[in-house]
Amino acid sequence: MKISSAEFVISNSDVAKCPKEKLPEYAFIGRSNVGKSSLINMLTNRKSLAKTSGRPGKTQLINHFIINKTWFLVDLPGYGYARVSKSAKKVFQKFITAYFSKRTQLVSAFVLVDCRHEPQKIDLEFMQWLGENQIPFSIIFTKADKLSKNKLPVQINNYIQTMLQYWEEMPNYFITSSSSGMGKDEVLNYIEDINNQ
Ligand code: GDP
Repeated sequence: MKISSAEFVISNSDVAKCPKEKLPEYAFIGRSNVGKSSLINMLTNRKSLAKTSGRPGKTQLINHFIINKTWFLVDLPGYGYARVSKSAKKVFQKFITAYFSKRTQLVSAFVLVDCRHEPQKIDLEFMQWLGENQIPFSIIFTKADKLSKNKLPVQINNYIQTMLQYWEEMPNYFITSSSSGMGKDEVLNYIEDINNQ
């Protein structure tokens, strides 16, 4: 898919106030600092459509962007930031749960994980929750440029083996780098294929 336009629409903390248009929607979510903003900017060819933040966990909002005037890209807040209080975590959980439960336009989520890290409990639990609630998702491994050519497949395979302890099949996944552009066409073509169905 060629991106001809990418525009910010609205930020809010209330799913009821998200755009009313029934366009297909894809949500990006992951732990703070996973590289979500960089990935969104890479996918949309924009330097700062999504704000890369020096202070992870700060922007606890649902951000809607409209792409090619035909689909919504949603930047959800990063989770699992250690310095956020327990009560803030609860609010976050409620609001993410509300988004995923109520947003009928949502076609699929993309759960971002840093390819360098061992599988993290919070990500595994979150994917489990998506599965239990029948919310389709793909995994996006980020920052692939940070691993050597040899180490990358080993890490990915390690992740797959862990997933297979919980899942009958490995969910769909992409390996990306916002620095090199790796995985960009794969993610965009995946979205385009679904939108054209
Ligand atoms: P977010 O908090 O998930 O939105 O993460 P950011 O996009 O702000 O990225 C967090 C940090 O990781 C920043 O310092 C980015 O420059 C860096 N980063 C993000 N993606 C990549 C990538 O693909 N490769 C490399 N080398 N660094 C990245």
